Amino acid sequence: MSALAQELAQSELFRDVPEEIVHLVMAQSDPMELLAGDILLSPDKENHHLYLLLSGTLDVHFGSLDTPPIRELNKGVSVGEISIIDGTPPSAYVIARKNSRVFPIHRDLLHDLVASTSPVAGNLLRLMTQWMRANTQRIVKDRMQIWELTDHANVDALTGLYNRRWLDNALARLLEQADKGEQPLCILLIDVDHFKKYNDTQGHLGGDQALIAMGNVLKTTVRPYDFATRYGGEEFLVILPNTNKEEAIVAAERIRQNTAQKKICSSEGAELPGITISVGLAMNRPGVTAQSLIAAADAQLYRAKSGGRNCVKY
Ligand code: GH3
Ligand code: MG
Ligand code: MG
Repeated sequence: MSALAQELAQSELFRDVPEEIVHLVMAQSDPMELLAGDILLSPDKENHHLYLLLSGTLDVHFGSLDTPPIRELNKGVSVGEISIIDGTPPSAYVIARKNSRVFPIHRDLLHDLVASTSPVAGNLLRLMTQWMRANTQRIVKDRMQIWELTDHANVDALTGLYNRRWLDNALARLLEQADKGEQPLCILLIDVDHFKKYNDTQGHLGGDQALIAMGNVLKTTVRPYDFATRYGGEEFLVILPNTNKEEAIVAAERIRQNTAQKKICSSEGAELPGITISVGLAMNRPGVTAQSLIAAADAQLYRAKSGGRNCVKY
């Protein structure tokens, strides 16, 4: 096998696929080099290819390019399949985070490959794809409506995040849903480090600006279907539905890093010192209550504080 054939054979798409099919696909096109920042897929552009990621990293952004990525794609996965199966433009932007190599497979070739297996396989794929796309759209739309309809009693005035009152209702409900669907759910309990000292040196108004900045980090860092709340004072709680521990650790690290890098300004525009956070993570178990899940996250937060702060514990 050539080096390229081996790379293709190691992808998810060609798992357990006979070597001659891999060679047939390989003969039809050549790998493409992407530079960091290159846009591979966009909702504004029709897509005719599925792309196998041979090396590098791609970011998936929903809505617009200036939102944070909701997913990161690594070697071996493919992108674009949904739009070529149901013949519609991609629903998200896919951008090279670093220099990457992808292998394009034209939709006609892919259709031939599927059809040669069985027409049922082709029909099944198309049905599942339509269902998946409808679901994604519904989730994003529901989320927008929740933001619009939520009355002020449920929103924290300083940060614009959901407040404790909202959380007390919502967490129990989300846990029930997760339990029913046997889905993982994680929470992150976040506490700003040495915030008393920040208030002492920058004044209470400076402290408030830091909390506003923290709210903005959370709003722009979590995915559209996650929930960020102000738990109280300088403590925040993020709910990550349908998220396992490994994924939650990645999300928590991203929040921690974005916080440490966030510029904080006084209301007059003067730059204030930055802040760091400690994060405790906990995952649901069958039958867990909101209270005991928060207690588990709090225990991890305590470890993060005694472990030197500016870190995530789980
Ligand atoms: P640690 O790293 O252990 O968390 O240290 P800390 O100083 O952050 O400790 P602690 O959690 O006890 O301190 C919380 C501080 O947050 C005390 C309180 O004055 C301040 N704080 C709570 N709510 C607000 C607020 O709305 N605005 C401002 N400016 N400060 C607040
Ligand atoms: Mg605290
Ligand atoms: Mg604190």
